[in-house]
Amino acid sequence: MKVIKTIQEYLSHLPILRQNSSNIGLVPTMGALHKGHLSLIDQSCQQNDITVCSIFVNPLQFNDSSDLNHYPRDLEKDLELLSNTGCDVVFAPTAAEMYATKPALKINFGYLENILEGCHRPGHFNGVGVVVSKLFNILQPNNAYFGQKDLQQVAIIKKLVQELSFPIHIVVCPIVRESNGLALSSRNARLSTDEKEKAAYISTVLKNACTTIQEHSVEETLSRAKQQLEDVSEFTLEYLECVHSDTFQHLESYTQGNTAFCVALQLGNVRLIDNMII
Ligand code: AMP
Repeated sequence: MKVIKTIQEYLSHLPILRQNSSNIGLVPTMGALHKGHLSLIDQSCQQNDITVCSIFVNPLQFNDSSDLNHYPRDLEKDLELLSNTGCDVVFAPTAAEMYATKPALKINFGYLENILEGCHRPGHFNGVGVVVSKLFNILQPNNAYFGQKDLQQVAIIKKLVQELSFPIHIVVCPIVRESNGLALSSRNARLSTDEKEKAAYISTVLKNACTTIQEHSVEETLSRAKQQLEDVSEFTLEYLECVHSDTFQHLESYTQGNTAFCVALQLGNVRLIDNMII
């Protein structure tokens, strides 16, 4: 496994990676890797000759400087985890390498900016759009792997690829959860054992909502689920919505396969998101 820290070094190495017209799969991450990330790596390894994992905590996508400062970082441990997978290249640049100057370019994703993560984290999707575009241009993958865990990010990336004609196929991977239902996240490292148990209840509420909606209206389902979350005094609910899983339009009624419940809340000083598609 080769660890590369500069754009120039990667570009020099690219002809070797491309020998015999190898397919390249990219897994973009912010590090503090867990089994969720590793499931993306595994899928890429199965579908490509070469797998590149990028590790970069992208300052441009943090709208909260405290969240950025507290974001867990442990490159050595990440490299150890990756060395036990089929990952071929780790691209781990510094912020100065990625942004010689702060980009003036702004990407506006229209409707997707105005709902859920878009309106609760102003500027976040611009940061995601800029960094993913740069990673696509630098690393030049054939396939790129993203988790359903960040469902609205998947919609953003698909729009980016479609509207800017990136010749890259996007593969969406299922959410990996703890046995108690808690969606794996790098931010979980900042939760106490007690908080982790409480956080697992988020997935129970989403599961209940998936059942409730079979027999009740969207409004009634959301109202019951919100109540369940608000009953946990440690949770501060940001949003719980029922949307189309591709377009993120609000749904008035449920359609099998495209109905997603998306939630964001604060637990202590950690912001957690989760979703479930029926
Ligand atoms: P991050 O390091 O949080 O930016 O995540 C990198 C990629 O891993 C994103 O595409 C995430 O959606 C994905 N990911 C994060 N957590 C999970 C999980 N629990 N299951 C599956 N994919 C995940």
